[in-house]
Amino acid sequence: MALFDKLASAAAVRRDVISSGGLVPFGVTVERILSPTEGMVAGRRVILGGTNNYLGLTFDPECIEAGAAALRSEGTGTTGSRMANGSYAGHLALEHELAEFYGWPQAIVFSTGYLANLGMIGALAAPGDVLVIDGDCHASIYDGCKLSGAEVIRFRHNNAADLDRRLARLGERAQNALVIVEGIYSMLGDQAPLADIAAATHRHGAMLMVDEAHSLGVLGANGRGLCEAAGVMDGVDFVVGTFSKSLGGVGGFCVSPHAELGLVRYTSRPYIFTASPSPATIASTRTALAALRSRPQLRQRLWHNVSRLHAGLTAMGLPPAAEPSPVLAVLRDSRDQALADWQQLLDAGVYVNLMVPPATPGGISLLRCSISAAHTDAQIDQILAAFRALPGAGHAVAGQAALA
Ligand code: PMP
Repeated sequence: MALFDKLASAAAVRRDVISSGGLVPFGVTVERILSPTEGMVAGRRVILGGTNNYLGLTFDPECIEAGAAALRSEGTGTTGSRMANGSYAGHLALEHELAEFYGWPQAIVFSTGYLANLGMIGALAAPGDVLVIDGDCHASIYDGCKLSGAEVIRFRHNNAADLDRRLARLGERAQNALVIVEGIYSMLGDQAPLADIAAATHRHGAMLMVDEAHSLGVLGANGRGLCEAAGVMDGVDFVVGTFSKSLGGVGGFCVSPHAELGLVRYTSRPYIFTASPSPATIASTRTALAALRSRPQLRQRLWHNVSRLHAGLTAMGLPPAAEPSPVLAVLRDSRDQALADWQQLLDAGVYVNLMVPPATPGGISLLRCSISAAHTDAQIDQILAAFRALPGAGHAVAGQAALA
């Protein structure tokens, strides 16, 4: 039973929350999903304000039809890994389409975005190599670092000068270093200073990987992510991404200008030792990628919603932690305050993400909104009205009233 002791602290947090009479924030059941932006929670209809469904494609009729057709014609699952069972034509087609989207020779599909990070970092780095990562990187990047056995050095969040210093200290060993950052950070919604980071990386002869999980389909003239928006496609060695956010599916990928990327398939344990994505997942993702490319109006609509919510929150004295982004984080003073506010928002019919330590950087607690192209103006207004009723929120100032 001693093995269970380490679970006790999580259980204590859960007990606290239950005794406060609310829903358990990390165990909410969406009893029915009604649309990309609405579901039933605790018997009532709520606006989904924290889904990562950035382009709102989860109910797109073409994506659904593509998935359903693949389900009927190719079955429910692949029942094994591509290494053992072989690739389906859809896996290869999606890899081809991703590579073509970036204008690079190679892409690899993984079964989730989490596994894409584990699979790439674990395959590229080994004991003797160095991983130099932004301190606020996602858990999947940290777990990939552990899997690799390489030395891990963290640099200060979004601080290219600190990265430069740490790479300089490595001297010759920087040749064996992989720098890892994210496009948009998942908790605060802030963007990496990518041009400076790419410059520092290459000054010291290291390689650069960018996780565009939250920026694919969101940033860049063609939706390729921050690499494109920052004009540094030429300075990036690996882009990692996920199908689970703007593409509305599940799965992950890596794409690279280096032809050697394909070799990763022969050594990457998270690629080799897990089942490949199902035909339906691949088919809906391919259709979603085509929509991302051919329907820029989705991205425009997303940014329209982001601007309204960011401006409205700012006007009521709850400014999000970073510049406008589809991830908008409203900081709270304490975990208990965040929890109470999260419950109040839910009671008002708005479901956002409650984020508390250890999932957050620097021990902060926050209410995380993630905005979709599918939110209507009326839904953004309802989200704002619910926030306006929280303690500490003021009324909209003149001139912002129409927005809020
Ligand atoms: N990278 C980042 C930055 C993420 O935020 C996430 C998911 N939240 C992942 C990777 C993992 O993606 P997936 O959910 O597809 O496993």
